[in-house]
Amino acid sequence: MHRQNISIYFEQNIRMKVFKFGGASINSAERIKNLKPILSPFRGDRLLIVISAMGKVTNALEEVVGAFFKGDKDIALELFQHIKQQHLSLLTELNIPEAVAEVRLRDIFTEVEWLLHDKPVRDFNYYYDQVVCCGELLSTLIVSIFLNQEGVDNGWIDVRDVLRTDDTFRDGVIDWNVTRQQTAQIILPVLNEKEIVITQGFIGSTDENESTTLGREGSDYTAAVFANILQARDVTIWKDVEGVMNADPKEFPEAVFLSALSYREVIEMAYYGAQVIHPKTIKPLQNLDIPLYVKCFLDPQLPGSVISGKGDEKLPPVVVYKRNQVLFTLSSRDFSFVEGEPVNALHEILKKIKIKPTLTQNAAISLMFCADHRPEKTSAAAAALEEFFDVMVETNLSLLTIRHYDGTFLSRLTKDKQVILEQKTPETVQLIMRD
Ligand code: ASP
Ligand code: MG
Repeated sequence: MHRQNISIYFEQNIRMKVFKFGGASINSAERIKNLKPILSPFRGDRLLIVISAMGKVTNALEEVVGAFFKGDKDIALELFQHIKQQHLSLLTELNIPEAVAEVRLRDIFTEVEWLLHDKPVRDFNYYYDQVVCCGELLSTLIVSIFLNQEGVDNGWIDVRDVLRTDDTFRDGVIDWNVTRQQTAQIILPVLNEKEIVITQGFIGSTDENESTTLGREGSDYTAAVFANILQARDVTIWKDVEGVMNADPKEFPEAVFLSALSYREVIEMAYYGAQVIHPKTIKPLQNLDIPLYVKCFLDPQLPGSVISGKGDEKLPPVVVYKRNQVLFTLSSRDFSFVEGEPVNALHEILKKIKIKPTLTQNAAISLMFCADHRPEKTSAAAAALEEFFDVMVETNLSLLTIRHYDGTFLSRLTKDKQVILEQKTPETVQLIMRD
C-alpha cells in the first residue's frame, strides 16, 4: 500500500530534493530571514526541509536535563526559562504576531515544564530525549511560521509522528518499515498540496509515543533516511563553510576545499572522527545512488562539494584529529594468549558499556584499544576488564588519522609529538599521540 503511494507520486514525475539546515544556519533572526533567498531558486521543486535546533540550544537543553536528574528542579526550570526566552524574543525579531506563534510554542514549553516538575524515576537517557527533542520542535515551528508569513508556503510536520525508532534512548534505531508507511501516510499528502514540508532532524518516537533521539548531530542522518524513503533526487546540507575540506581549518590552517568526493572517502573520514557529516548519513544515500551536496548558506552561489558514487580523483592528504582519547592496554596474567574466552568477554563488556574502539592492536599476550574518553565509561570498563586481564589506562591522547599520506607530510604532523602507537595501510596511517 505505502509503496504504491510513493510510486504513484513518482509517476507524476516529481522527484523531490531534501535540504538540511543545521543549528548555525538558523541561530539568529537575520539567518532565518536569509532562508528565503536561499529557497527562492527552488520554486517549483518539491522540498523536504530537515532542520536542527538553533545554535547551541541542544547543549543548553542537556544542562536542563542534567540539573533535573540531579534533583535540582529549580535550577532546571531556571535554565529552561532562558531557552524559552531566547525563542520568544526571536518571534519579536521576526515580527511574528504573538497570537499566531505563542500558542503553538507554549504547548511545547508546557510539556517540558510538566516533566521538570516531576521527580526522576526512569533512567537518565529517557529524560534526556523527552527534554532535548524540544529544541528541534521549537526551531522548526518558528522557521515554518516565519516562511509562511513571508509567502513561502510550507507545511510543518512533527517528525515524531513519522520517524519510528526502538527505545534505545539517545541512540534510537530506526524502524524502516513503519517509517516508510508513515512517510507515505503523513508526509506525501502534505507534499501533494505544498511545495515545501518542514520537519525536525535528530528526533523520533517509539511505538509508545515516547520521544527519542538519534545521537548528537543526527539531523544529517534524518535527511538521508527521508531521501532514501522518498527516492529523492539529491540532498543538500547547508553549512557555514564552503564545503568539505581535507582537514579542520581550525586545527590546520592550510586546509583545502574538496569539490568532489566519493561516498567511500566520506564514510571513512566521518568514521575516523571528521566533523563533516554524521557517519550514518552515507549508507541510505549510497544505497540509492543519491548525490549529497554540501553548500554554504552564507554564499549560496558557491558551488559547494558533491559526494557521490563517482570514484575519487587524486585527493590531497585528508587529516582527522580525534582528541580526548583513552588507550587501554590489556595483558594476560599467566602468559596465555589473548584469544578465546577473555576476548569474547572484552567484546561483551564494550557492547554493554557502549564503547566503540577507534583503533585496536593485538599482540601475543596483550591487546590495546583506543576509544573516546568518557570518565564514567572508562572506569566502568577498566573495573569490568580487571576480572580477565591486567589493565593499564592512559588518557590525554589524540588519535591522528591521515588518508592518502606521504612521508614528508607525516613527519611534519608528528614533529615534536610523542607517538605511542602507529598503524599503517598503504592508504591510511593512524597514530596515537600524547597531548
Ligand atoms: N541539534 C542536535 C545536535 O546539536 C542535532 C543536530 O544538530 O544534528 O546534536
Ligand atoms: Mg547541531
